[in-house]
Amino acid sequence: MRQLVITSGKGGTGKTTVAACFVALSWRSVCADADVDAPNLHLLLHPKVLEEREFRGAKTAVKNEELCARCGKCEEHCRFQAIRGLALDPFRCEGCGVCVHVCPSGAMRLEEVVTGRTMISRTRYGPFAHALLNIGAEASGKLVTEVRRRAEGLGQSESLVIIDGAPGIGCPVIASVTGTDLALIVAEPSVSGLHDLARVLGVARHFQVEALACINKHDLCPELSEEIAAFCSRENVELAGKIPFDPGLVEAVRRSAPVEALLETRAGRAIEEIWEVVKARLLPPKSFCRGG
Ligand code: SF4
Ligand code: SF4
Repeated sequence: MRQLVITSGKGGTGKTTVAACFVALSWRSVCADADVDAPNLHLLLHPKVLEEREFRGAKTAVKNEELCARCGKCEEHCRFQAIRGLALDPFRCEGCGVCVHVCPSGAMRLEEVVTGRTMISRTRYGPFAHALLNIGAEASGKLVTEVRRRAEGLGQSESLVIIDGAPGIGCPVIASVTGTDLALIVAEPSVSGLHDLARVLGVARHFQVEALACINKHDLCPELSEEIAAFCSRENVELAGKIPFDPGLVEAVRRSAPVEALLETRAGRAIEEIWEVVKARLLPPKSFCRGG
């Protein structure tokens, strides 16, 4: 099983559109939306949800008032000020377990809390694992790991897993990128886009994942596109292609049109050319590419 992650240094660069097009262009692939904070891939793939599960990704302290001897040790040792006047504030609790450890009466315990839900769906392109993090919930990296685990369970040894990765450089990005065979970084032609590209490339390299880059809407700022291309050249990162700004693609995405309609646009054809480059890196291509 090979794994490809499409990622970016920040949200809104077009990585989900690229991921959706790759899913439609591939064969026998499994897709996963690892952007659990703001998942959007389902809006393009129109999945039918087959199974939904609660995800318990964190713990919180719970107090048994009947056992509490009111000694104050838990409040004294809690570093997150989650206990005040011996009252527990669940919004401040980090689930570290120190209060459980210091309580002489056994009045404190940790309980798992639901931090999101995972879904297995069917799309016209193949199976799809995705999730939704609860508002304000932590542990999004754990939820990404769970989505990837479930996606792997949907494939076969010759399958390709296409992951719409989380953006940025934090925990969910690390959970999206680690252990994949290839990362495609989608960059924008802006000063911040170049900066973000460098940062997410650092994440991929740190975790020894080979990375390619592509530039979305490259013609909106040819000078910065050139700078990004020069950066990629200096860093020995293959520039897999450039996608033009295309109102046709924007309109198709806005209408939530089928991915085939996205691929018929000028930008869609550029994405298809990038897929050919990516495909060549993910040998052997015949096993998971339509038409070989
Ligand atoms: S689990 Fe940790 S953060 Fe939560 S109340 Fe206990 S000591 Fe404080
Ligand atoms: S440490 Fe245990 S017994 Fe002491 S105040 Fe906290 S919950 Fe109560």
